[in-house]
Amino acid sequence: MAIQTVGIIGAGTMGNGIAQACAVSGIDVVMVDISEAAVQKGLATVAGSLDRLIKKEKISEADKNAALARIKTSTSYDDLKSAQLVIEAATENYELKVKILKQLDTLLAQNVIVATNTSSISITQLAAATQRADKFIGMHFFNPVPMMALVEIIRGLQTSDATHDAVKALSEKLGKSPITVKNAPGFVVNRILVPMINEAFQVLSEGTASAEDIDAGMKLGCNQPIGPLALADMIGLDVCLAVMEVYLKEFGDSKYRPCFLLREMVAAGRLGRKTGQGVYTY
Ligand code: NAD
Repeated sequence: MAIQTVGIIGAGTMGNGIAQACAVSGIDVVMVDISEAAVQKGLATVAGSLDRLIKKEKISEADKNAALARIKTSTSYDDLKSAQLVIEAATENYELKVKILKQLDTLLAQNVIVATNTSSISITQLAAATQRADKFIGMHFFNPVPMMALVEIIRGLQTSDATHDAVKALSEKLGKSPITVKNAPGFVVNRILVPMINEAFQVLSEGTASAEDIDAGMKLGCNQPIGPLALADMIGLDVCLAVMEVYLKEFGDSKYRPCFLLREMVAAGRLGRKTGQGVYTY
């Protein structure tokens, strides 16, 4: 089934980024959120992002207008009925996502694919809450969506080959380079990234090197664009800690034990950029 219209649930950071990526690639979008203010904010973010691309001479004014014309916004799930694929990008909360997926089951034709952009919830478990486990899949975009080339396509235990292939083809149409991943905590990128950040805190707590030298080492020695501790400040130390707790619980392996210094900093409210202080002061 060719995907010409994509429904997006949630017009926040990820939802409006996904809407933009679809619209500039010639895909029609229906973007739904809980309030008119939320969808208008999402749409304004897309318009602002397209304006920046015009300034950089990457797209024309006409391209911008054509992309915006492809995005329909709504506060009613009924408007998702025209979509061949619906991507759920609402707030990261298991109960909320299950509620949304059950609602979609009652609305959408049985052949419609439903994807979730969740960062941390099991795709297999969410699939089991739907009546279309074979047509349910993870599409994990990276922030900012219009700039980041990666999409992790996550197959739940029951995801069909046809669903995987359709979502992979769509990701490529969006100009992304998808990778295929089996469902597991953290998928691939965060599974490797967050324990590396945790290890950077461990090295810092042992006094092996200063924060600046740890970050400089990883930037200059591994060609990383940003050091792991500066990255932790961007992600949020509370988010990094929560992710490690999930790995420790799900894998039952002590190698995922969160660093005590990370716990201490979270307990102190030093969560990173969002609180003005994390490893570094902002
Ligand atoms: P966000 O808070 O920016 O946006 C979430 C949006 O969902 C809000 O606008 C909210 O009003 C809306 N929403 C809540 N309940 C809804 C409902 N019942 N129906 C429709 N809309 C509803 O969050 P975000 O950062 O865009 O994250 C969305 C999803 O993407 C989460 O699952 C998150 O884990 C995942 N994700 C986030 C990032 C990131 O860097 N922010 C990266 C990858 C994946």
